[in-house]
Amino acid sequence: MGVEQGTFVQKYDLLGCIQCGRCTGGCPVTSRTELNVRRIVYESIDDEKLEDLSNKPEIWDCTTCNTCAIRCPKGLEPFEVLIGLRSMKAEEGDIEPTARDALESMFNNGNPWGKPAAKRTDWMSDIPGVKKVRILSEGEKADVLVHVCCTAAYDPRIIPLAKNLVRVLEAAGVDYGFIGNEEKHCGSEARRLGEEGLFEYFDEENTELFSKYEVNRIVTISPHCLNTFKNEYQNLNIPVMHYTQLVAELIEDGKIDLKGEIPKKVVYHDPCYLGKKNLVFDEPRYILNKINGIELAEFERSKERSLCCEGGGGKMWVESSSKAERLAELRIADAKNLGAEIVAVACPFCLLTLEDAMKVKGFEEEMRVADILELLGEVI
Ligand code: SF4
Ligand code: SF4
Repeated sequence: MGVEQGTFVQKYDLLGCIQCGRCTGGCPVTSRTELNVRRIVYESIDDEKLEDLSNKPEIWDCTTCNTCAIRCPKGLEPFEVLIGLRSMKAEEGDIEPTARDALESMFNNGNPWGKPAAKRTDWMSDIPGVKKVRILSEGEKADVLVHVCCTAAYDPRIIPLAKNLVRVLEAAGVDYGFIGNEEKHCGSEARRLGEEGLFEYFDEENTELFSKYEVNRIVTISPHCLNTFKNEYQNLNIPVMHYTQLVAELIEDGKIDLKGEIPKKVVYHDPCYLGKKNLVFDEPRYILNKINGIELAEFERSKERSLCCEGGGGKMWVESSSKAERLAELRIADAKNLGAEIVAVACPFCLLTLEDAMKVKGFEEEMRVADILELLGEVI
């Protein structure tokens, strides 16, 4: 399988592990699947076992939520070992057909959804109050370069997020621009599905693409794009922020007038890649508190302890090895117990998984799941 002796030991600092089990103790997936990340870290020290470990279906249950890394007292990132094991399978093309199709589409179309690159900007039509969305030409200047995200560009349920962001930027008079049809997948899900080479391709391609414009910062709709650009690209020297950070700044500077009201009890679900990975906890709550009428509640498991929705880590394209109740359903049940009428999110994957869970639970009559961009769209 092309694994060199001691590769995992050095790459993931496995000898630093003291087998304390805090990773497994904190792992939200352990309760519903066979995944035991402590054991996998331990067994990965032995090169002879790597092939067997890579064949375990539960390595695909990890959502890369980062809880194990936060908890590890030795500074390890246990989930990276699981990604390494996935890479061994991806190298051989021995992965689920849905994941293989997503990876092929990333390479051929620049997005995981099997959609043509030429249609990436179709979402830009019919935005109330906006005649034309600005697409930057090479060498053009702008304060903010917006990276839309494949899901927000193509998925009919998520497209309204992109449209509402344009409305917010226009209302606040932000000097912004988009890339257009040349925009590509950030590479986050390629890496988490084990395709390191494809990730490196996106890193190089996108870094070159971004450098064609004279912008002060890149703003993302998805926390997954944020994390990848900010923490995983090797040579990207432009500051990257999530839209909630920009919108909080605009509200603070008095540039957005939140005229309407939403008289509802709202609970905010921290997306793993925004919260636990990038420690953006305050800005989403700041925005929600600035919307008239909102009564903001907190989950018991929030911020660093927030429960994962299971949408990250490539899980949008990989079936769970377990039929036990999904974490998203537990999250929705928690929201119901709090009496929340709206579950607010700030991530396309969280929106899709939690909304689906809400429908499975049959709670559509009494609550809804909405991205903060949708709530903003209702009050500007
Ligand atoms: S938390 Fe860290 S040190 Fe403890 S068992 Fe897990 S990987 Fe090892
Ligand atoms: S990243 Fe999350 S799901 Fe994956 S092993 Fe760590 S705690 Fe479990």
